[in-house]
Formats: sequence, C-alpha cells, structure tokens
Amino acid sequence: MSSTSICNPALLESAARRSVRYLNEIGDRRVGPSAEAVRALRGFDVEMPAAPVDPESVLDMLDRLGSPATVANVGGRYFGFVMGGSLPVTVAANWLAGAWDQNAVMAVTSPVAAAVEEVASRWLLEILGLPRDSGLGFVGCDTVGIFVALAAARRALLLREGWDADARGLFDAPPITVVLSDEAHLAVHKSLALLGLGRERVVRVSADGQGRMRAEALPHFSGPTLVCIQAGNVNTGSFDPAREICAAAHAAGAWVHVDGAFGIWAAAAPERAYLTHGVADADSWSFDAHKWLNVPYDSGIAVVREAGHLRDAMSGDAAYLQRGDQRDPGFLTPGMSCRARGVEVWAALASLGRSGVADLIERTCRHAARFAEGLRAAGFEILNDVVINQVLVSFGDDETTRAVITAIQEDGACWCGGTFWHGRAAMRISVSGWATTAEDVERSLAAMVRIASEQRQAAALGCAR
Ligand SMILES: *Cc1c(COP(=O)(O)O)cnc(C)c1O
Repeated sequence: MSSTSICNPALLESAARRSVRYLNEIGDRRVGPSAEAVRALRGFDVEMPAAPVDPESVLDMLDRLGSPATVANVGGRYFGFVMGGSLPVTVAANWLAGAWDQNAVMAVTSPVAAAVEEVASRWLLEILGLPRDSGLGFVGCDTVGIFVALAAARRALLLREGWDADARGLFDAPPITVVLSDEAHLAVHKSLALLGLGRERVVRVSADGQGRMRAEALPHFSGPTLVCIQAGNVNTGSFDPAREICAAAHAAGAWVHVDGAFGIWAAAAPERAYLTHGVADADSWSFDAHKWLNVPYDSGIAVVREAGHLRDAMSGDAAYLQRGDQRDPGFLTPGMSCRARGVEVWAALASLGRSGVADLIERTCRHAARFAEGLRAAGFEILNDVVINQVLVSFGDDETTRAVITAIQEDGACWCGGTFWHGRAAMRISVSGWATTAEDVERSLAAMVRIASEQRQAAALGCAR
C-alpha cells in the first residue's frame, strides 16, 4: 500500500461533525427555511473555479449556504406531503455504503449489494404479507415502482394474447383496458403515459367520500385489463376495497396493481393490518421505503407476484455482462448501474425488527389521531376518517383555510401543506417521520390553533389579510 490514502479523513470527519450538528440543532430551528436563508442560496451562483479548490472549503460552503436552506423534514415537526425522515441507522448505513460506492447492477459488480438486497427483499415480503415467491426490485421511488410493475403487467397481459409487447411494441397490439379510480395518484397517470398506455385512455371508477374506489361501480371486464387500486389515499389515507376488487378482476382475468406508496405499511402494524385485507391478492405492488419506513431518499420498491414477468420485462443481455444465477439488481429495474439501495432498507428492518416497524406505524397513526382530536376540540372541522397517519382539516371557508396554511408555513414551528378535498380547501397533516414525539405534536397543535384562531378573528372582523 502506498502511504497516500485515497480517503481524506479530516474531510470525512468534518462531514460527520457537520451532519451531527445539523441533526442536533434541527429541533431548535424553523421547519421551513427562512426567506433570508433561501435568498442566501444566491451565494452558490458563482463562476466555476478555474482550478482545484480545497475540498474542506467546498464542504464548508455547502454547509454554510446549504444547511440553513434545507427543509427540516428529518425533524419531528414536518407534516407536509407524505414524507418520512431517516432513522439514524439508515443514515449511518448510507454513509458506509457511500464509501463503498458499489455499482449494484450485478452480483459480480457487488456481491454485498446483491446479498443484502436479497435478504431485504425477503423481509419486506414477509413483513407486508406479500407472496414469498414474488419478484422485487429496488428503485428510486414509488412512481418508478408503479412503472416497473405495470411494465410487467403489460407484458403478461399481452403475452396471453400472443403478443410480445417488449419485442414488438404496442403498435398493432391488442388494446389493454386500464381501470382506475377517480382518486388514482398522478404517479399512476405518469407511469401509464411512459408505458404507452395513455394517461387519459382509462376507464374511471367513482370513489366514495373517503376516496375509496367503489367496488360496486367496477365495469364489466373483457379482454386484457389492468386495474390499478391504492392502499393509502394520499389525502385521506383510505384504502380501496382490495379483496372485492381483486376477486372481481381475477374472475375476468384482469391484472390488479396496488399503489401502496405509504399505506401498505399498515400491514406491518397488527392493529392497522385489517385495512390492507385483500391487498396481498393482487398481482403487483409498488411502495416507498423513503416515506413511512424512514430511510433516506430516494428509495422505492416494485413487487410482481410472478417473478418471471418482472425479470423478463426488465431483462437485457450483452456479451460483456457476467450474469450468474444470483440476484442481479440492475435487471429487476429500468436502470442498470445503481447505488446499493437495499442497504438502507435492510438496515432499517434489521434495526427495528418486526415490533419496531409496527411501533413506528402505530405511533405515527396515534399522533395523527391526536392532531384530529385537538383540532376538533378547538372547533375546527376534520374532513376525513383518520384511519392511519393522514388528517385533513378545514379552518372555515377556503380563503381562511388557505390563509392559515400560509401563516403556519411562515411561522415555522411546524410545516403543513394544503390540498383540495371534495370541493373544499384543506390543510393536510401527514405524520410520517419516526422522530415526531408527543411533545412535537402538542407544540405543533398549539401553533396551529393559535394561528387559526388569529386568522378566524381577522376573517370575522373582515380585516384585509
Ligand atoms: C407519494 C405517493 C406516490 C408517489 O411516490 P414517489 O415516491 O414520490 O414517486 C404515489 N402514490 C401515492 C398514493 C403516494 O402517496
């Protein structure tokens, strides 16, 4: 070994020190960045250096300008969209795997990535109650997971009609009927567009007041049919009636895909698992690890019951590859070269264990219930049945609700986003982060109630807002 190290210990230690400080201070800072911190990002807008710059000063610039302009979603009081933080063990595993810099495309390029993914895959199928022989690929997000699963579905449905879509494309192929509810996530529409199935060429099934597909409104199926349902509505957290829909769809030979982005994790919590009844009856599933499992971005998963359909849809070969009979992660996903994503998922599951995952899900659901209870007690209207971690609240008329959301974001004690639910503006509260404590909930609730009361008074007085 030469005496010069490829590693720069002082630099890596500096990164670790800065990271620890960032995480330690997160509880004391505003959740959204200040306008001043965002303005200071202009500091990045300089000419590219003509010559090398000391790495420590590069890191210092990133920390100095960058850290204050982050959104503190890893802290305990971020309730926007549906976003988790990251468990400390997953950040640590991410650092180590970053140092490894493995290309997880094949077992021959990274035996460790392939082996760890294989175990994480088995554990995921077990803890979510999905068929054990399913094929599973680690991708960047749930949207890509949907894309991958639907590519397998497209292949399988058309092969039954004697058409190899992967070889011949969709021109002149038998048409596939795509059935969605009015509440399908935009990620489903995006994937359909990418697959040549069309965003708008769909049969829509109406949804009920909680956003659940009405099983009784399903059309009569014939010919190759793909039905997309969801486990966990992005607004209400509600679940489509999977058992009934799968039974009706399968009786007619249709393929059912479940978009379980975050909601499918309810299957891992004994007290919530009833919500996911029938989800395991489907043909494919997609979900996130970066939301409710709390691993670092970006981390999504695609699962296909008949593993061969996943492998065939994502296959490829070239003379220089060395494919063995082990798992080759890059041939279960659309990309090839990829980081060892399974490492963080493995670390989360290895560290939490079954009861830890159940507790994470159950605890965040309880926090959501407390938000609903507290807001209701303060006289505000909860628009959804709070079945998991999602709460929709109205603070009065749409204008007032929107003004409250803006004021909460500006206040900085917590962060929530808005939505439009059944014709009304609403604030969404999603409790997805492991770090949220009961104290965080009370502090956020107090801020919400204070701000909403101020806005309500202002509205009553007819003040300009
Ligand atoms: C978040 C979400 C998606 C998209 O997931 P990404 O990981 O952002 O691609 C799709 N469907 C539902 C129901 C979601 O909540």
